[in-house]
Amino acid sequence: MMSKIEKIVFATGNKDKVREINEILEGFSIPVYTMKEAGVSVDIVEDGKSFEENSLIKARTVWKESGGLVLADDSGLEVDALGGEPGIYSSRYMGEETSYHLKNQKIIERLAGVEEDKRTARFVCAVAAVFPDGSEKVVRGVMEGRIGYEEQGENGFGYDPIFILPKYGKTTSELPSEVKNEESHRGKALRAMRIEIEKYEDSDSQ
Ligand code: IMP
Repeated sequence: MMSKIEKIVFATGNKDKVREINEILEGFSIPVYTMKEAGVSVDIVEDGKSFEENSLIKARTVWKESGGLVLADDSGLEVDALGGEPGIYSSRYMGEETSYHLKNQKIIERLAGVEEDKRTARFVCAVAAVFPDGSEKVVRGVMEGRIGYEEQGENGFGYDPIFILPKYGKTTSELPSEVKNEESHRGKALRAMRIEIEKYEDSDSQ
């Protein structure tokens, strides 16, 4: 059977994410391109109030330019003792240009005196799809953990050095990428989306 979807455009410019996405979707028969590779350059205004809204805004904006199947993700860290901050503002926390070393230090500082069992946090990832026929789907993946007392590990990116996965007693920065991808919010959301894409391929829509 001819595939209804020839290629996927992933609406992100973040190289770290593209690397993880390619690892997670490895073996998938449909090639995944970045916006740059697909020749799409648009300004995306992320003014949604949730991860889901923001992922859809990104996917719709790129789809208007490229058509086909467009995927977009929006993700972030929610720290319970900080009322869910930085949440949807995770990349903008303390300013987009501020290093993650400083962002991580700040979060640790703000949690000074907070006991172990109150240091709970989660990474959340929404992945949105706009399909070739214009239909839409959004899925969410979550990874629960807690915030450590110092940065640890060299792998990963962003808030990984302070995010401890209780099952391993290690930060997601200390884990090999295969393990992180297995457990991560982005891994879970992308695997759920992969099922949605397969359903679309098997459906009657043109
Ligand atoms: P987005 O590009 O608007 O989705 O912003 C997501 C931000 O959340 C990233 O820039 C990171 O700061 C943080 N983030 C999301 N996923 C991860 C992860 O897997 N590890 C570490 N930080 C993450």
